Amino acid sequence: MRSIPPASCRRRALCTPSEADLPLQFQQNLEGTSWTRRIFLGSGIGLAGLLLWRALRAGDDPADDARLSVDDTNNPGPVTIVEFSDAGERRSLATVPKVAKTNGEWKKLLSSREFAVARKAGTEAAYSGSYHKPKDRGLYRCVCCANALFSTDAMFDSGTGWPSFWDPIARENIWTKSDSSFGMIRIEVLCRKCDAHLGHVFDDGPPPTGLRYCMNSVAMKFVRVG
Ligand SMILES: [Zn+2]
Repeated sequence: MRSIPPASCRRRALCTPSEADLPLQFQQNLEGTSWTRRIFLGSGIGLAGLLLWRALRAGDDPADDARLSVDDTNNPGPVTIVEFSDAGERRSLATVPKVAKTNGEWKKLLSSREFAVARKAGTEAAYSGSYHKPKDRGLYRCVCCANALFSTDAMFDSGTGWPSFWDPIARENIWTKSDSSFGMIRIEVLCRKCDAHLGHVFDDGPPPTGLRYCMNSVAMKFVRVG
């Protein structure tokens, strides 16, 4: 696992926005502009402006769009994923039905924290999870359906208090959608097989992708390899 200087993760507050964090976050997002956060907070005009700014900014570097693509298609299934053994071996593509359960059924299978994060798009507190600094090599599976999601091979220490990866174990195994909650424009990451909320992805990660998948420990189960 690589250690990345905190400066590369200056947007770490995005994972757990709070009212105290929002002004700072907006200032960081608008770095280099003359607009103030007051224009944006609590107004639809501000949100539209932020969308425009994001579009213009993305237009400066076409690679940004390619890296931070958003699926925004909630495929009802069946879905095609890549299966992995617990030893981390990549197997073939598999087309499987989606795992769909009622909230009542999920509550019987998950802890209250797991349900709040994975099924209700919650966010665990920074440094509260088990995996923000793992020591062993292995892979992370979805806490809801055991779909393989991430590997320690693509993990780095972002200094944010959440497990961070520069790529999923297989792009097929996740999907993304836009998220405008908390007055911010973010990209939510979900499990392809069961739609569990996993976290968000940002464009301030390390090479080779430049991405930072900021995940919730409680949404995943670690499987040690070796
Ligand atoms: Zn899942």
